[in-house]
Amino acid sequence: MPIPFLEPFRIKMVEPIRMTTREERTKTLAEASLNVFRIRGEDVYVDMLTDSGTGAMSDSQWGRLMVGDESYAGAKSFFRLKEAVEDVMGFPFVLPTHQGRGAESVLFQAILKPGQVVPNNRHFDTTQGNILELGGRPVDLAVKESGDPQLDAPFKGNMDIERLKSFIEEVGPENIPVGMLTITNNSAAGQPVSMANIRATAKVYRSFGIPFIIDACRFAENAMFIKMREPGYADKSIIEIAREEFSYADGCTMSAKKDAIVNIGGFLALRDHGLYEQVAEKLILHEGYITYGGLAGRDLEAVAQGLREGVDEDYLRYRLAHTRYLGEVLQAAGIPVYQPTGGHAVYADAGACLPHIPPEQFPGVALADMLYLEGGVRACEIGSLMFSHPDPATGKMITPPLELVRFAIPRRVYTRSHLEYIGDVAAEVVKNAGSVRGVKIVEAPKLLRHFLAKMDWIK
Ligand SMILES: *Cc1c(COP(=O)(O)O)cnc(C)c1O
Repeated sequence: MPIPFLEPFRIKMVEPIRMTTREERTKTLAEASLNVFRIRGEDVYVDMLTDSGTGAMSDSQWGRLMVGDESYAGAKSFFRLKEAVEDVMGFPFVLPTHQGRGAESVLFQAILKPGQVVPNNRHFDTTQGNILELGGRPVDLAVKESGDPQLDAPFKGNMDIERLKSFIEEVGPENIPVGMLTITNNSAAGQPVSMANIRATAKVYRSFGIPFIIDACRFAENAMFIKMREPGYADKSIIEIAREEFSYADGCTMSAKKDAIVNIGGFLALRDHGLYEQVAEKLILHEGYITYGGLAGRDLEAVAQGLREGVDEDYLRYRLAHTRYLGEVLQAAGIPVYQPTGGHAVYADAGACLPHIPPEQFPGVALADMLYLEGGVRACEIGSLMFSHPDPATGKMITPPLELVRFAIPRRVYTRSHLEYIGDVAAEVVKNAGSVRGVKIVEAPKLLRHFLAKMDWIK
């Protein structure tokens, strides 16, 4: 009898984790200036800070580490990665990078001039940061439904095609060196993008002569959603769907720490040789030579193997069911959850959970802090602390539509009991929600401030 929602793996190595006392956690959080990024991993019991690089590699991946070719130039391991990328994604040119942001950085350095604009359904924080640092303007054009946490729709990560068209006409295609689409849409609650929408986005970019780059971090989870939700795809294999996703694009940036299930690594994959050469120059200066790009040969092996494991259908079916289960557990605990549950994470609506705390007082940070205090659970604010920034053109503050807390689930790491424990902790926090205070920033850098900000409770 097939039981599709069970783990398609078993455990053969374990890492001990430790429960702390409330006194310890109170002290730890104060020392971390209320910023969960400043807490040590060993002081966390269940860590849902990110799904990035936190996955468990398979025995095959660990095995590949031993055959890594550490040649500076032309390593065998690079060609194994190239083959895997071509096979799964269909792009002939690959530039390895230390992680996803490295790929973004070298791409934008090669093609983005100050004052230029990069549209996306929703930029991830590092993408936004890389564009801003070069004097560019990141613009988010996701469908309106993505801002409605209660609406149950299959593809809330989609690009708003009409807005994209009118936006390009307004700013002029000559001011847009590249157009993007992020699948799944991480900053919009991990919602998938439909194949029809990928196709339509590509058509718009192409009609204006704008190169189309997919931010592909979770392309496999996105493919599984397409298989489950989009008419015409139920009988297609994940790899067929993945290839079709990329067939409409000129390239992709990839954080292999997501759907390639490695602890470090990324790459930029491209179709056009000219663009490849332009970026290769930047890569050599900033990341490393074109056949390793800041990674060891063994890392390239693990990425190559992980790319193939990431598109395994049994794994993906389990993965999406596991994530959905955490959504159900949190809802049952009384935490309003963004609907429907995304692929890699569950997004709690902190704004709705703590309605007495206004966005300027960061309800998402307050909720994440309370989860840590209550039970050593670490989750991450995805709201005003992460995304509010002044518009470079007008100086007006741009704020995100929702104040969320993200529980990002490491791949192949936690069991159902861990998820149920999070539910128990959340239920305790909900009991005392009315007395939770907002927080204020004491000190913060300008770019990507959520990583380093120091905060304090509002008295
Ligand atoms: C993680 C991520 C990135 C950046 O990748 P890193 O490996 O963390 O540098 C870019 N875009 C999206 C959508 C991501 O989730």
